[in-house]
Amino acid sequence: MKRVYNFSAGPAVLPVPVLEKAASEMLCYGNSGMSVMEMSHRSKDFQKIIDEAEADLRKLLNIPNNYKVLFLQGGATTQFSMVPLNLFRNGVVDFINTGAWSKKAISEAKRYGRVNVLATSEDLNFSYIPNLDNLNISEDADYVHIVQNNTIYGTKFTKLPDTKGKLLVSDMSSNILSEPINVEDYALIFAGAQKNIGPAGTTIVIIREDLITDKYLDSTPIMLQYKIHADKGSMYNTPPTYGIYICGLVFKHLLETGGVEAKYQENLKKANLLYDFLDNSKLFRGVVAKEDRSIMNVTFVTGKPDIDALFIAQAKENGLVNLKGHRSAGGMRASIYNAMPYEGVKALVDFLAKFESENL
Ligand SMILES: *Cc1c(COP(=O)(O)O)cnc(C)c1O
Repeated sequence: MKRVYNFSAGPAVLPVPVLEKAASEMLCYGNSGMSVMEMSHRSKDFQKIIDEAEADLRKLLNIPNNYKVLFLQGGATTQFSMVPLNLFRNGVVDFINTGAWSKKAISEAKRYGRVNVLATSEDLNFSYIPNLDNLNISEDADYVHIVQNNTIYGTKFTKLPDTKGKLLVSDMSSNILSEPINVEDYALIFAGAQKNIGPAGTTIVIIREDLITDKYLDSTPIMLQYKIHADKGSMYNTPPTYGIYICGLVFKHLLETGGVEAKYQENLKKANLLYDFLDNSKLFRGVVAKEDRSIMNVTFVTGKPDIDALFIAQAKENGLVNLKGHRSAGGMRASIYNAMPYEGVKALVDFLAKFESENL
């Protein structure tokens, strides 16, 4: 069967050369005589895999030496608990509420302390990023939490909030490695791998070293302590070995194809192609405020749920799959992560135009 263009929000498309490489190494990795899945995490072969994955990620994002990279499990959702458990000193966090992933993180943080919501875009179903000027940062806030790209609604922060010196924590699950960032702007970055990196099961945490302490809340389970994972090189227990291996292949592939800046240029081209079509369409329209548009998740509607459903069904028949919007947003969503080729977006735009001419 032919591969489809998969616009899934996650788990999502992976680069074909990575899948081919993994296939070629499936039965025998190097001289090990076994698959990476069958290998001890304490083996030399695996140590090399995780070390290279870390080194390559450091190269890709220019991660300074005073930041640790952790390969964890439990998805981004586990970070909603792990961050407050480890960073709370006063037990206060400021949030910018930009959608479902903010709200879930807010509920978790509330178990351990006080949450202030500095700004929210809930009034218009999170279709924009709230104004970030003059935020009322709490004097005693331990950190400020943002969701930098909002996978469900299709918004992204185009600039960072001024946290007035407070630590900034960013959920980058759906935009990590999509464009260059300055890691030093953040105290902690986390991302589930299954959107823009690799398979589900690996979570990446990039954390400033001085924040890794033994000052976590007393009842913090050992698996939720950054310090143990940092001290043990992400191998306190068995890490998600195969997932880390695939992430590592994706990092190598990115480095070989020009790195994050080159990807960013491609991502802009892809997103512009799709948004330009939507802006000129008489049937479809983008949902999000123009200045806050994500280049990873593009949300759009016709305004008629039955036409939306017809479009999604016909797109699928044409090899353009997983275009249905999230249940809380409706309409359509095309996730066009790093691994979605330009040709995939072009095929989508061509099909949108064809559908429009037939259904206007
Ligand atoms: C998908 C997603 C999550 C949840 O990730 P899990 O790995 O399923 O826990 C959190 N935040 C954002 C921005 C996401 O896109």
